[in-house]
Amino acid sequence: MNLQDFKESVIRTMAELDSPWHDNLHMVLGLVTESGELADAFKKELAYHKEIDWTNVKEELGDLLWYVMGMCIVNGWDLEDILQTNSDKLKARYPEKFDTDFANNRDLKKERKVLEGASTINLVDINSFRFPDQLEFESGEEYLKRVYDIMYSE
Ligand SMILES: [Mg+2]
Repeated sequence: MNLQDFKESVIRTMAELDSPWHDNLHMVLGLVTESGELADAFKKELAYHKEIDWTNVKEELGDLLWYVMGMCIVNGWDLEDILQTNSDKLKARYPEKFDTDFANNRDLKKERKVLEGASTINLVDINSFRFPDQLEFESGEEYLKRVYDIMYSE
């Protein structure tokens, strides 16, 4: 199943509440309760020596993804963009691969820039974006800097 098919499945099975706030709250509480169900499987193994039901573990992962997709739908977010942003953030944190030093000394400003860049750029309609005709630039670098400044300004 691809993300679009999954999105359609979530839309079909989602409760319609009376406001976006309640829809968001529904999704957040769902993530918490499904996380609890996932944790419960491991708690039972730890405390009661009950064998882990891996089919149930996978079910709970699917339930978590349902709520993640639901929150994207409620807010008009593209899950693929969120996945890309997460990947970009981790690329900023670990340029080559996981590293304990990078994990313990995170550059939060750098990561925030990646996160804000991704969310801000989604607000710009790139197809209708135009510079005023009278603007001239000395170099391509200056032009790109101006584009960057406009797209990432608040
Ligand atoms: Mg569940």
